[in-house]
Formats: sequence, structure tokens, C-alpha cells
Amino acid sequence: MLEVEDAFSRIIAHFHPLEPVELPVLDCLGLALAEDITSPLDLPPLANSAMDGYAVLHSDIADAAEKPPTLSVISAVAAGQVSKDTVTPGNAIRIMTGAPVPNGADTVVPFEETDELERRGRGEALDHIAIHKALPIGSNVRPAGEDVSAGELVLPAGTIVRPAEAGVMASLGLITARVIRRPVVAVLSTGDELTPAGETLSPGHIYDSNSSSVAAAVIAAGGQPRIIGIARDTLEDLHRCIDEASDADLLVTSAGVSKGDYDMVKDVLEQRGEMNFWSVRMRPAKPLAFGLIRTDAGRPLPLLGLPGNPVSALLAFEMFGRPAIRRMLGRDLLARPVVEGVLTGPIFNSDGRRVYARVEVERRDGTWFATPTGPQGSNILTSLSRANGLAICPADLPRKDAGQAVKILMLDWNEEVAQ
Ligand code: AMP
Ligand code: MG
Repeated sequence: MLEVEDAFSRIIAHFHPLEPVELPVLDCLGLALAEDITSPLDLPPLANSAMDGYAVLHSDIADAAEKPPTLSVISAVAAGQVSKDTVTPGNAIRIMTGAPVPNGADTVVPFEETDELERRGRGEALDHIAIHKALPIGSNVRPAGEDVSAGELVLPAGTIVRPAEAGVMASLGLITARVIRRPVVAVLSTGDELTPAGETLSPGHIYDSNSSSVAAAVIAAGGQPRIIGIARDTLEDLHRCIDEASDADLLVTSAGVSKGDYDMVKDVLEQRGEMNFWSVRMRPAKPLAFGLIRTDAGRPLPLLGLPGNPVSALLAFEMFGRPAIRRMLGRDLLARPVVEGVLTGPIFNSDGRRVYARVEVERRDGTWFATPTGPQGSNILTSLSRANGLAICPADLPRKDAGQAVKILMLDWNEEVAQ
């Protein structure tokens, strides 16, 4: 039996960051920049005001605390305008937030530090203004290039584009960026008993849930799923479906990799390439296939063969498929966060495999608590639906009891949990 870590490193060794594509900035969300972004301009391009107020010469207001000066207001400048006037001694220009600071001025005095309100209250014209406070030189002036200067490296290659990066790129005037493209992941379910959701179920059949759950997990990991559908348990149909996946970056199949009579997937894969069929020391999801297969596209296609049971399929995808997608996306962090918590109910380990038990994780008074979500059979998908984490029972422990410390792999790391 192979340890989880060994299976992981053997699989991940076959994946590398994919090639770049140029995309509109919004389509880059969650993707890694494939090249450095340097700024073509100063940000802000011109020195501008951080407040609504008066642009003045500092020398005119240096003694304002003792002797409040009254300055002549010669004009006004709003955001988006550039004043033609120059501030000279004894004069001020009324200025709005974001407007370029006029020539001559070196300081902006906010309305609150002037007699603006009193004058307005008396219905007086704002052609003069008294300054009440001596501010340091440069107050409320945002210098040109304060955020970014022209030629500066702003976003290095490898940066993951989040809303702030989308904004930074737009502030540099960019509408596209080169990012590492999303991998295309073909998703194939196998089994004569499977019927697509939406169709009528005949006796002995079940709906195919793996196509949906695995494709959804591909999207959540940042990949682009291509659902091939359901392959029947015949050699011809399996070959045909695999050929449909030939131009994908990864093919993920489910079922047919264990020891049943109709587990043809194994035979077909063996005919088509260098496949490994492993027993991984974990529960659920012991049977796993991985290898490179030949396709009509001529290049070897990595194939990850998940077990058929719905929980096993998703968990094996979580452990091995998601990291492969993240590696192709150029991500460094491949695994989920693991926290230390306390169990509120027992988890069992009957046969010396590492158990990943479905649990609901809550944080109370600074401690993580993990509560098993019910029956842990590998076919019981609803107990995974109720879970937001997986509590780990080490391979060499027969059980873990309520009150014991436990490592918890966080499937969802969201605002509700992380309070
Ligand atoms: P197998 O590996 O083919 O023996 O499948 C193991 C179990 O998983 C069987 O009970 C299958 O019916 C079930 N199963 C396989 N594929 C799917 C699927 N796509 N959706 C739901 N259950 C499945
Ligand atoms: Mg089957």
C-alpha cells in the first residue's frame, strides 16, 4: 500500500505551470500573472489634493495659530481640471479632493481649518478666506508618483490576480494581462448502472453524481471542466470516450479501478499507456489509478482514475486532482490549510489506513471543534455535503475519541467558520 504523500509526489511530478494567454483583466481573476507588470506612468500622475480645501503657500500660513491670515481666493479647481493660475503670496485657490495642486502652492488647508463655514453662514462671498491653523508644509498634498513611479515593478510574475490587482492594472491603464491559462480537465464517469441526471431512472440504475461533483470541484480548483459523459463498461465505449478527451490537460475518470468483474477501465488503461494502479493507505478512497496514456493527439495525457463511490471520488480528487490543477495554474500552495482542533464525537479506524472523517468545523472561544457529520460510508455523499472539513485519524490509531486533539483539513475556509 502506498502512503498518501508518496502517491501525491508521484502524481504531482507530472504537472507543471501551463503556457500564458492574454486575457481581459476581469477574466484574469484567480489566475497567476505570467509576466512582470511595470508601470508606464506615475501614480498619481500629478500632485493632487487629499482634501477639499484651499491650496496655499506654506509661508503664508506658518504663523496662523497666533495671527490667522486672510488670503484672497483667486479661483477654484475641481477634480479633472488643471488650474491655469499660480498661487502667489497672499493668494489661495479653492481646491477639491483629487484636483491637481496648482503651480506655486505647496500645502492644502482643509475647509475645517478656515472660516469657510462662518462666511457661508453669513451669506458672504468666498473671495477671501481666513486660515485658523498652521499646518506642516506639504500637508494634504499627494505627490506625483506617491503610489507608483513610472518604470517601477508593480506586480511581479506569479502574482495571483485578486480584486486589488484588477484595480491596480486598471489604474495603470491596462485592459488585458498575460496569465497562466486554466487547465482543461476532461471528466468521465464509467459504469453500466449510470444514468445522467434529468433522465428517467430504470431499475438497477443510479444517477451519475460523479460527473457533476468532480466537474464542480474542477471549477472550484480553477480548472475548466469538459464533461465527456458516461462510458459503458465495454472496451469500445471506453476507448471512444478517452479519445474524446485527447486534447485536455488532464483526464479524470471515476469508477472501474477496483477489483470487480466489470472493472474494464483498468484493462483499457493498461492497453493505452504507462498506468499505475495503487492502493493508497487512506479511507475513503483506497483504489487510485494514475498514469500517462496515449491519445490520438499524439502527446501523453495524464489520467487520474478516481474510485467510483461518490465520497471516495471527491476525496481522491481533493487529495490528488486539485493539487495537480493548482500546479498547472502556477500556484505555490497546493494543499488546503490544516488546523488543530478538538473532536466532539469519535472517529474510527478499522484497518490501519489514515481516515479522513467528514466533520462540521466550528470555532468557539478561539478553539476549533470538529463534529462528525454522520454515517461515514464512502457512498454517503450527504454527509460530505454537511461537512466543511475532514478530521484526520492517523493510520496507526484504531480510534480517536471525543475531547481528543485532532488535525482538521479545512475544505471551506470561509467567513462563517473563521470567526
Ligand atoms: P466501481 O468502482 O465501478 O465498482 O464503483 C463503485 C461504486 O460507486 C458502485 O456502487 C457504483 O455504482 C458507484 N458509482 C460509480 N460511478 C458513479 C457515479 N458516477 N455516480 C454515482 N455513483 C457511482
Ligand atoms: Mg463499475
